[in-house]
Amino acid sequence: MPNGLQMDESTKQAMLEQAQAQLASVFQNMNNDISLVLFTSPGKNDLFSEGSRQVIRAIREMTPKIDLREYDLSHELAQKWNVEHAPTILFDPEHYNIRWLGAPMGEEGRCFVETLIMMGYRETNLNEESMKVLQKIQSPRDVKIFVSPSCPYCPQQVVNAVKAAIEKPDMVSLEIIDIQANPELADRYSAQSVPMTFANEKMIAQGAQSEELFMVSLEKMEQQTIFIPESDAELIETDLLIVGGGPAGLTAGIYAVRSGMQTAVVERGPLGGQIATTPIVENYPGFTQVGGKTLVDIMVNHALQYVQIFQGEDVLDVHPGTPIEIKTSRRKFLAKALLLATGASHSHLEVPGETRLSGRGVSYCSTCDGPLFKGKKVVIVGGGDSAVTEALHLYNIGVSVTLIHRRDSLRAQEYLTKILFQNKIPVLWNTEVQEIRGDERVKEILLFNSKTKETSTLETDGVFIAVGYTPAVELAKKLGLELTSDGYIKKDSRHRTNIPGIYSAGDVEGGYKQIVTAAGQGSEAAMTIFEDLINPYWTKK
Ligand SMILES: Cc1cc2nc3c(=O)[nH]c(=O)nc-3n(C[C@H](O)[C@H](O)[C@H](O)COP(=O)(O)OP(=O)(O)OC[C@H]3O[C@@H](n4cnc5c(N)ncnc54)[C@H](O)[C@@H]3O)c2cc1C
Repeated sequence: MPNGLQMDESTKQAMLEQAQAQLASVFQNMNNDISLVLFTSPGKNDLFSEGSRQVIRAIREMTPKIDLREYDLSHELAQKWNVEHAPTILFDPEHYNIRWLGAPMGEEGRCFVETLIMMGYRETNLNEESMKVLQKIQSPRDVKIFVSPSCPYCPQQVVNAVKAAIEKPDMVSLEIIDIQANPELADRYSAQSVPMTFANEKMIAQGAQSEELFMVSLEKMEQQTIFIPESDAELIETDLLIVGGGPAGLTAGIYAVRSGMQTAVVERGPLGGQIATTPIVENYPGFTQVGGKTLVDIMVNHALQYVQIFQGEDVLDVHPGTPIEIKTSRRKFLAKALLLATGASHSHLEVPGETRLSGRGVSYCSTCDGPLFKGKKVVIVGGGDSAVTEALHLYNIGVSVTLIHRRDSLRAQEYLTKILFQNKIPVLWNTEVQEIRGDERVKEILLFNSKTKETSTLETDGVFIAVGYTPAVELAKKLGLELTSDGYIKKDSRHRTNIPGIYSAGDVEGGYKQIVTAAGQGSEAAMTIFEDLINPYWTKK
């Protein structure tokens, strides 16, 4: 075994032991004991029941403050607490109405631990704005969140709901439903995309939300996309504000703070940007192969050593000047410089049925939704790196996948194309999807062959769309930044835009859209900003 790898393993082990010790001390200092009640039914979901036992056992080894009782589903207590599914974990059922249907494994393990800690300390750290909204709720909300262990977005939404259920136990009850352990429930609610949130049987959110948006959606009983704080937000003054917590923004944050600039990163969604939805990364130096989420964790942990990150906060408005005034969904920032590292997002097919069936068979994230289609038939639409990567991911997790491409050759890297063909993944060439059909969920698609001019239909359970990206330039447009003819931010070779003090980096600038290039651009931009703040280039012009 090479030396480097040995070092790596021992460092990892040391880090793990340190994390366990820290966690044990957090549990130890909790001021309340927590009783967990696990209902199982031998022969039903045994794997998940055993998973739940193991997770709880591992936590109980760290602290005597967590107590576990296990009953068969036929026990009278199951009836008392209306438990119908196995396994189900009830959290302190005498005080709260929070239950977990399935096993808290994978991505979900994190929020399971977070739930216990919040309960143990009776402290959710719900921000003031969210608390105000939550207090407005005056009638019961029966919340159900469908999650999967491989979904990187799910924990954020679960934590939002747990906070609501802990803060307002008289009004908010919560069921966290693992779709892999409970496929029949997922089916009943047509929850084909996770996380999906229901309140009183009504869908109130698709995807993960910021804390405030979750509370407002829960209060209004429908999905909200904008949160306007009721009072003046807190004010933060900083040298540099970075919009976007993808590889460009995180790298820029590290470089900026190391140069001596006070810096903050604001991210509206999950940290890591597009990497958070990338199944496997094989071209980032230092890692022959690394899961997208793992790489995000490594980058975020690194960035957190230096920079303050504000997650779940949308930058809504920017007023250039000295200082630049930035308004987010939570507060106001005053900054000497602003870096837009807002990245890009999936493009849409723009065909009938796509929006209506989104989350009901139409998906843009194979990592999140792929497991739902195990053993089923899906198509993936596109011909670039993302389409081929995602097709291979679906194939590897046991989904029967067909690639649909409107041209007669792929744009993906040769290496990826080779694996696609080696695995004999079928490709429909010169084919366009014209419509996605289905009532409650995707049933079939209407296809048009541009060579033969023939139309046909294809039955499918899912349509994964990977047809390119749209740069996130809403803010840039509002600001009046010059854009290129392709719609990306126009900048000079040092990442300066046409407005003094405003810079860009990463996918939002166009060009090569890779993690390594985004990170490189982030570091370049931070160094330029540092030099410009010392010696403003615009006064030299
Ligand atoms: C499925 C898939 C597979 C990929 N595979 C690879 C691969 O194997 N190797 C590779 O090198 N690259 C890969 N890429 C590309 C790579 O992930 C991107 O090039 C890279 O993430 C771009 O980084 P970025 O920081 O510029 O932008 P992003 O990663 O897009 O991050 C931008 C961030 O800004 C946030 N943001 C936007 N507007 C606002 C706002 N107003 N307020 C607050 N936050 C905001 C967004 O939420 C987002 O998190 C893949 C991409 C996808 C989708």
